[in-house]
Amino acid sequence: MNRIVAVLGRGLVPADTPLLRADDLGAVRGDGVFETMHVRAGAPWLLDEHLARMINSADRLDLDLPPVTDMIELARQACSAWPHTEEGALRLVCTRGPEDGGPPTVYATLAPVSPKLKTYRAGGVAVATLPLGVTTHARTPAPWLLGGVKSVSYAMNMACQRWAVRNGYDDALWLSTDGYALEAPTSTLLWQVGGELLTTPTSTGVLAGTTARFVLDRAGDVGLTAGEKLVTPSELLGSQGVWLASSVRGLVEITAIDGAALPTAAKTRSLQDLVSYPV
Ligand code: PLP
Repeated sequence: MNRIVAVLGRGLVPADTPLLRADDLGAVRGDGVFETMHVRAGAPWLLDEHLARMINSADRLDLDLPPVTDMIELARQACSAWPHTEEGALRLVCTRGPEDGGPPTVYATLAPVSPKLKTYRAGGVAVATLPLGVTTHARTPAPWLLGGVKSVSYAMNMACQRWAVRNGYDDALWLSTDGYALEAPTSTLLWQVGGELLTTPTSTGVLAGTTARFVLDRAGDVGLTAGEKLVTPSELLGSQGVWLASSVRGLVEITAIDGAALPTAAKTRSLQDLVSYPV
């Protein structure tokens, strides 16, 4: 299936249609917000949760997001051209628009899930810890650092993933300068200690992951309780399982951290069953 593009107020357009002005602030400043969600059975999964996060991100950037009903309609238009049998990755984008003022630029793209992400569901990922250069609690009292905001400024996130891949890993895991594991550049960290399924508190500035939230809210279904904690990489190595969760990859087991192998996690399959992605 090829990429689908839908534009607010225009509906579906050919995927190669030029959409952004040369001075669009999304392109020249990374000034805008986005959400990516999993499309299954022809519809975006957890759409309400993603839209709520997008509204919050836009508020944090003082950006006027169109009414939520318009965003829902945009998502619906993109999905209308997608086969119900195929999973997909739907991205909703809203930038601040032209530099000299004007309406925000708002569109949706829908594309196949990358084959590499699909292989991670079955085979897991080896991660490299990379320092993020901030202390665990630096971002809470500094809202301008945009902790918890899903802005279109993802160049640093992508640079971390490229560094990891260039050095023989599958992904990166960010560390605070005081030594705690925070999140990955495009996914949330989950881990199991005894009967507890844990994640990093959002007070550290990590993005509030919708997939991890869905899993944590159902931890009881797989015999676990849910909690939040700070964790070091060496504590992760002694845990009963470590995972990355995100909307397009689903739930993926971390098999090694900085080259140190983790024992196979017994709960991977049952946690993956909770989110129902094809494995
Ligand atoms: N953390 C970051 C930095 C992300 O970019 C993402 C998703 O793209 C996540 C966590 C996971 O969030 P979600 O499960 O809502 O996709």
